[in-house]
Amino acid sequence: MRPVDLRSDTVTRPTAAMRDAIAGAEVGDDVFGDDPTVLALQEETAELLGKEAALFVTSGTQANLTALMSHCERGDEYIVGQTAHTYRWEAGGAAVLGSIQPQPLDLDARGRFDLGQVAAAVKPDDPHFAKTRLLCLENTNHGKVLPLDYQAEACALAADHGLSTHLDGARLWNAAVALGVTPAEVAAPFDSVSVCLSKGLGAPAGSLVCGSTELIARAFRWRKMLGGALRQVGVLAAAGRHALTSHVERLADDHANARALAEGLGEIDGITVDSADTNMVFATLAFDDPTAFADHMAVNDVVVRVVGNTSRMVTHLDVDAEDVRHVVKAAAAYPGP
Ligand SMILES: *Cc1c(COP(=O)(O)O)cnc(C)c1O
Repeated sequence: MRPVDLRSDTVTRPTAAMRDAIAGAEVGDDVFGDDPTVLALQEETAELLGKEAALFVTSGTQANLTALMSHCERGDEYIVGQTAHTYRWEAGGAAVLGSIQPQPLDLDARGRFDLGQVAAAVKPDDPHFAKTRLLCLENTNHGKVLPLDYQAEACALAADHGLSTHLDGARLWNAAVALGVTPAEVAAPFDSVSVCLSKGLGAPAGSLVCGSTELIARAFRWRKMLGGALRQVGVLAAAGRHALTSHVERLADDHANARALAEGLGEIDGITVDSADTNMVFATLAFDDPTAFADHMAVNDVVVRVVGNTSRMVTHLDVDAEDVRHVVKAAAAYPGP
C-alpha cells in the first residue's frame, strides 16, 4: 500500500492525464512571449478570476512578492496578517528584496483582521512614517474561508484609506468551492490576486498573479529581476491548464474527506479537532509525546507532521475516502497518552 501523505496538498504527483497534457504541450520561448501554452493559461486564468491580465510565475512565494513589488515602492508599507503566508512563511522577501515594510496585525481564528485595527494602523502622511500602500488578505487562511461580505468590507475600508488590495489566493479555488461561488467572485474586490496550481489543483509547479494590465506589466519586469522568467515553460503551463479544467470542482471531494477525517479523529480519546471548512484538519493531541503519535502513524503507512501538540492534516488528490477510513483506524489504534 502506498503511504497516505497528509502533510500538505503539495505532495500530489501528476496524474496520468496531466502527464499526457505535459507531453503534448506546444511550447516556445516564453521570454520572447512565444509559448502558446503559457499565453493560453494566462488568458484563461485572468478570465476565470475576472481580471484583465495574468502572469505565470514559478511559485506562490514569487507570485506574492512580484505582486507586492508591483503595488509598493521602496519605503512603502503593507498591512498583513501576523500568521499570513506572505509575512511569516516567505523568508521576509517583501522587506529584503522589495524594501517594503510589513505592518503585521493579528488575525482571529478564522483568518480575519479586526478592521478597526487595520484603520488605526494606516499611517498619516508624515515624513516620519512609511507610506501605507497596500492591504493583503489570504483566502483560505489555514484552511478557513473568508466570507465574501468580510472581504468586501475589508476592501472598502482599504479604498477609503487610499490603499490597494492584494489577495494571497494560493487556495482561492478551495474557498470558491466551499462557498459555492465562482473564483471570480472571490477575486472580485481585490486589485491583485495570486493563485497556486501546485496545491489542491495537483500541478507540479506554477502560480499566477492576476490584476490590471498595467499592474501585470510591472509584475513582468519584477519577475525578470527576481530570476523567474522561464523558457519553454509550456510544459508546466499545460499541467496548470489541465488542473484548471479537471481539478477544481473535485476539491469538494477533498473537503468532504477532510470533514470525514475530522469527524473520525474527533471521536478518538486524546484528539480534539477544529472544524474543517475546506481541506485541512487541525488535530490537537493530548499525548505526552505527540511525536510518538507521528511515528505510530508512519508505521501504519500514514505520513503526518506534528508541530508541538498540533498536527495539520491536509486532504488532496491522492487521498480518497478509503484512505481516510484507514487513517482514522490507525489513529484509533494509538495506545494513547
Ligand atoms: C503555499 C502558499 C504560498 C506559497 O506558495 P509556494 O508555491 O510554496 O511558494 C503562499 N500563500 C499561501 C497561503 C500558501 O499556502
